[in-house]
Amino acid sequence: MMYDSMIIGSGAAGSVVARKLAEAGEQVLVLEKRPHIGGNCYDRPDDYGIVIHEYGPHIFHTSEEDVFQFLSQFTDWRLFDHEVAANIHGRLLPVPFNLNTLSMVYGEAEAKELKKSLIDAYGAGSRVPIMRLRENPNPKVRAIADYVYENIFLHYTMKQWGQKPEEIDPEVTGRVPILISYDNRYFQDKYQGMPKEGYTAMFQKMLDHPGITVRLSVDCKDELTFLSDRVVFAGEAFTGKIIYTGALDELFDCEYGRLPYRSLDFHFEHFAREDFQGRSVVNYTVDQEYTRITEFKHLTGQTDVDGTTIVKEYPFAYTGADGEIPYYAILNPENKVLYQKYAAKLQGLPNVYLLGRLAEYKYYNIDTIVKKALQLAEAIRR
Ligand code: UDP
Repeated sequence: MMYDSMIIGSGAAGSVVARKLAEAGEQVLVLEKRPHIGGNCYDRPDDYGIVIHEYGPHIFHTSEEDVFQFLSQFTDWRLFDHEVAANIHGRLLPVPFNLNTLSMVYGEAEAKELKKSLIDAYGAGSRVPIMRLRENPNPKVRAIADYVYENIFLHYTMKQWGQKPEEIDPEVTGRVPILISYDNRYFQDKYQGMPKEGYTAMFQKMLDHPGITVRLSVDCKDELTFLSDRVVFAGEAFTGKIIYTGALDELFDCEYGRLPYRSLDFHFEHFAREDFQGRSVVNYTVDQEYTRITEFKHLTGQTDVDGTTIVKEYPFAYTGADGEIPYYAILNPENKVLYQKYAAKLQGLPNVYLLGRLAEYKYYNIDTIVKKALQLAEAIRR
């Protein structure tokens, strides 16, 4: 079989490109290392029949119309406004920190004046990263910043990244800004929720096309040899397109050292009772060793099974040991230089494209990956 394109990885990036190239008339081969498709979005029923996200909770959200329309060809949706609570010394408060949170922390009377200070400083409806709030010259605003920093960001970030908020890329804490509004939603995107039958079913349908062949449990390095000027497949130079969505350092046996990542240990627990925490996600921002607890039934809306399953997330530094999974690129200048060193090795391979969180060493949301995949497919398709 002659393939026009070869795609390494069947997560969001790989599946979207595969579909678009196949729709353009190409023969596409997808090589997937794991025994299943869907990448880290993969979901499945656990031993109790409760649908879980094996690689951590994935809540889809987007304001990109084309992304939503593209995915909607392969799934119906369970749309809802996603909310998160922070457990702060046993009390549940809305995150991102917003004007409702402010009232709960300071009481209505004191909050009234503080709200005015925030609105005067930033404008109603604005989104202010914690690191910016901390720089405000008004001591009253800075006191709020101190509260939010200490109770929402510091300990959670220490757990998640092993570093303080000021030591990590501001883009990361900037994902969860302080909202100068009464919006309790975690995301402000137009569409948010879950694929109705799950992510696996959505990606399965996407990959179900006569032009697409998926091979599971195949390490691409057993099939492909990346030389400086060509990629060898089945004994010959492969002249089609190769879209690589895996970790870039691993393609080159980590010869310059490993690209650093944060990983997570997921501890799943099942309870014979109907409900565990009454909501989908609780962030533990001042104590515990795990960062958050997700109760899947509240995300998926599943009602046809008894009991409930939760997952606790324990972050740690990825070492590359067997079984560990690199989830989050650690964005700092040194790591970006290392990444570029690996990327430079592809200079002689103009038919190889890097796409996705791992291959690009970026902190992408699902919708951004889908958008980038659509754009790449458009640019390189037949
Ligand atoms: N963060 C935090 N406390 C929270 C939520 C987020 O300190 O309650 C910080 C933390 O550094 C985290 C980052 O903001 O890694 C981004 O959070 P997000 O919820 O976007 O992380 P993800 O869901 O991608 O793991």
